[in-house]
Amino acid sequence: MALSGLDIFKLLPKTNCGECKLPTCLAFAMKLAGGQAKLEDCPYVSDEAKETLAEAAAPPIRGVVVGKGDREFKTGEELVMFRHEKRFINPAAIGVLISDTMSDEEIGAKVDEAAKDSWERVGQQLEVKMLAVKCESGDAVKFKAALEKAKASGLSIMPMTEDAGLMGEALGVVGDLNPLLCCATAANLEAMGGLAKEKGLPLVLKGEGLDSLADLAEKAEAMELKNLVLDPGTRNLKETLEALIAIRRGALTAKYKPFGYPTITLPCEETDDIFFEGALAGIYIAKYSDIVVMSSAESWLHYPLQVEVQNIYTDPQKPMAVDSKFYEIGSPGPDSPVLVTTNFSLTYFIVSGEVESSKIDSWLGVVDSEGQSVLTAWAAGKFVPDVIAKFINTSGIADKVKHRKITIPGYVAQISGELDEELPDWEILVGPREAGDIPTYLRNLVSG
Ligand code: SF4
Repeated sequence: MALSGLDIFKLLPKTNCGECKLPTCLAFAMKLAGGQAKLEDCPYVSDEAKETLAEAAAPPIRGVVVGKGDREFKTGEELVMFRHEKRFINPAAIGVLISDTMSDEEIGAKVDEAAKDSWERVGQQLEVKMLAVKCESGDAVKFKAALEKAKASGLSIMPMTEDAGLMGEALGVVGDLNPLLCCATAANLEAMGGLAKEKGLPLVLKGEGLDSLADLAEKAEAMELKNLVLDPGTRNLKETLEALIAIRRGALTAKYKPFGYPTITLPCEETDDIFFEGALAGIYIAKYSDIVVMSSAESWLHYPLQVEVQNIYTDPQKPMAVDSKFYEIGSPGPDSPVLVTTNFSLTYFIVSGEVESSKIDSWLGVVDSEGQSVLTAWAAGKFVPDVIAKFINTSGIADKVKHRKITIPGYVAQISGELDEELPDWEILVGPREAGDIPTYLRNLVSG
């Protein structure tokens, strides 16, 4: 149960020493309750109070780290049911399923494809995070061989078997990579939970519906297992969606501790139709699945899902923005064109991409428009002549180019006259409205 500011205040030393950089212990308690201060900022909290406060301050859904190194990811720690209430925290991780009954070539090709599924979009890297290696052969040698291949990819690993003996064998191969063990059931919890506890590894609990999942989670907690991931065990759209919503609601609204863990779904086990599988994954990502496992590594399937994750997990109250400055596209020199646009990430990456594809080295000036796109920024007074002129005059671009020509986006052609007056030494050119027309525009510009 979350503590109020007054509850927290009762646990503080009440000396008002000010070392936390706040004037009173009450002010500190209020900030702590609001999540704007950290407990470590007060050096005088007793160990007993620390324990109580740390427990109360813990997120209602535990954060669980899977993997090690570059593709390690953290999942869980969500605080809200709906993105617009605050924001979603740790992006859903997408994994790819590999069976140890596949041929060496098939496994190798799928591992390579999954490792290559990586795209840069608006300054962020989107990528497959995990390989789920399933033991379908029942043969430890084959299981370990598939895990060896998966291990070489550098992705996080989820060994999949309900046989604790085989899982023990798997840990001989990937135990040092902080793998996500999948999975403990009512039948094997003691043995599988024992393995996870011994090595401090994250563990998937697979129920047979919500009641058995809650029961399993309570038993796992009694074993002092902490890094848990919940699989309701449902394998159809209706039941899985209902379970995902109930788990999230149970954790956040009812503060029901057994559901206070991230969730995993396996659309790959719900259908043989790859298109329907993609649709299922899209739905589960939108409704609270923290990890999603797909049967295929094909990029046409993954890229839209990754974009969905990116869209859902960005902060809705903070527009994505790039730094305001002049960017060199290619290797621009004193004769290269000069363009300006706004610092909304999507605008910047689309415009810079088109300038790059024109193969004409250019200077691209990005004006601070508080992360708004061209027309929105113009309407809000953030991309207007005096702001643009100030940016140009303080950017140093005049020292880098011999000419005095600036291209503004076609969508704000109406400001060219006023900008002319603000920048009397510069000639204001109006570029195309659509970014896709930039290459032709630039080619025409440099050819005179
Ligand atoms: S550092 Fe601790 S004791 Fe001092 S004012 Fe802050 S909360 Fe109170």
